[in-house]
Amino acid sequence: MKVAVIGTGYVGLTTAVSLAMNGHQVTGIDLVASKVEKLRQGISPIYEPGLEEALKKVLDDGTLAFFTDLTEAKDAEIFFICVGTPEAADGTADLTYLLGAVSDIEKVHSLAPQERIVVIKSTVPVGTGEKVAGMLAGCQGVSVASNPEFLREGSALLDALEPSRIVIGVDNSQAAASMEELYNGVKAPRVITTRVNAELIKYASNAFLATRISFMNELARLSTALGTDIVTISRGMGLDSRIGPQFLRAGVGYGGSCFPKDTIALLRLAAEHNIHLSILDKVREVNATQPGWFLEQLCLQLPDLKGKQIAVLGLTFKPDTDDIREAPSLKLIEALLQKGAFVKAFDPIGASGVSKQFPQITYTQSAAEACEGAHAALLVTEWEQCVQLDWKRVHQSMAQPLLVDGRNAWPNQEVKEAGFHYIGIGRS
Ligand code: NAD
Repeated sequence: MKVAVIGTGYVGLTTAVSLAMNGHQVTGIDLVASKVEKLRQGISPIYEPGLEEALKKVLDDGTLAFFTDLTEAKDAEIFFICVGTPEAADGTADLTYLLGAVSDIEKVHSLAPQERIVVIKSTVPVGTGEKVAGMLAGCQGVSVASNPEFLREGSALLDALEPSRIVIGVDNSQAAASMEELYNGVKAPRVITTRVNAELIKYASNAFLATRISFMNELARLSTALGTDIVTISRGMGLDSRIGPQFLRAGVGYGGSCFPKDTIALLRLAAEHNIHLSILDKVREVNATQPGWFLEQLCLQLPDLKGKQIAVLGLTFKPDTDDIREAPSLKLIEALLQKGAFVKAFDPIGASGVSKQFPQITYTQSAAEACEGAHAALLVTEWEQCVQLDWKRVHQSMAQPLLVDGRNAWPNQEVKEAGFHYIGIGRS
C-alpha cells in the first residue's frame, strides 16, 4: 500500500522503516529539513539499535523516501500521524502538532481527493479521533482510525516488526479491512474496536506500567526499613503467572517521553469528567519523590556532599536509547549540584544532550574514568558499559569505595568482595 508517515521521530521513523520492510511504499514527512536531509543519506537522527541499518536497506530498495512537504505523498492511501503530543502547561496533551498535521492532510486531500485513511498513531486523549473526524468531515472518502503505538525505545524496530498486539479503532468496516490489509503478515493479536476504546487502551497501558514501577519503588523503601531484599521479593512475586516479571524492578523512578506526560494527561482527562484517579495520582507522587529518596540513601553514608566528587553513571532514561526526556539523571544532577557536589558523568550516547542543560559538570569517556577520585558512584541507567566494570581497578581509583546502585544492576556480591560499601534500592 502507499503510505505517508507524518513525523519522523522515535515512533514515526520506526513505523516508516518497518512498514517499508513489510513491502509497503512509504513516504516519511518531517517539518525539520535538517532531519529529512540526514534521513535521505541513511543517517538516523535518533539512536535505536538496528534502525540505521534497516533505514539504509529500505532507502536502497526504494521503498522509503523522505520529504518536508506532504504534497509529495498526495497519492497515499494511508496517512499516519506520528507527531509529538507533549505535556502542555496545565498537564493536558498539547495537540498543536497533531492539529497542524491534520490541516496539512486536509490541504493535500483537496489537491488529490481519493479514498484514504488518516491513522492517529500519536498518543492522544480519548475523543481526539472524533475531533479529527469532525475536522475532516468535508474531505470525501476520508476515514479516521486510531492505531496507538506500544513500542519501547531501545527495542523499537523489533517491537514494530513483532508487536505484542495491534489495536485498531475505527468507525466503519471498510477502514478496518484496509488496516487489516496494511498489517497483513504481521503476526500479533488484533483488537479491532472503536476509536475511543483504542485511545484509552494506550493511556491505560502506560498508566498501569507506571503503577507497577511506583508500587515496587514504594515497596523498596519498606524493604530498606525491614532489611529485606527487593530483588528477591520481585522475583518471588513475578513468578506468579497472574503477576508476571515485567516492570517489577525497583529503581530511581521512571522517566522518558511517555509515562510522565501520559499519566498526567490521563489524570487531567479524568478530571474533566469529574473522576479523580487517586491511584494514578499517588503513582506520580511516588515517582516524583523517588530520586530524592535515592539521594537520601547516599547522604546516609556521605552526609555532607559539599566539595565531594560524585560519579553519575548513565544519563538516558533507559539503556539503548539517546532519549534524555524526563530522565531521572537530570533531577539527580541538579540536586547533587545544589548540595555542592562536583559531578563527573558518563553515558555511552546521552552525554551531549545532557551537557546542553548541565555544561558545568565533567563528562568522561568511560564509567571507570568517571569513578576516578570519586567519593561515591551512582548507577542511574543500567547501560552495559556502566554495569560491567573491573571492580578491583575502580576500587583502587576511587577516593572512597561507596557504590549506590539505583538500578540494582551491579553484581553486589562481587563488588562487596572487591571492598566496596554497596547500597542498592531496597536491598538488605
Ligand atoms: P518525537 O518528538 O521524537 O517526533 C515527532 C516528530 O514529528 C518530530 O520530528 C517533529 O519535527 C515532527 N513533526 C511535528 N509536526 C509535524 C508536522 N505537521 N509535519 C511533519 N512532521 C511534524 O516524538 P515521538 O517520541 O516519536 O512520539 C510521537 C508520538 O508517539 C507521541 O504522541 C508519543 O506519546 C507517542 N509514542 C511515543 C513512544 C516513544 O517511545 N517515544 C512510544 C509510543 C507512543
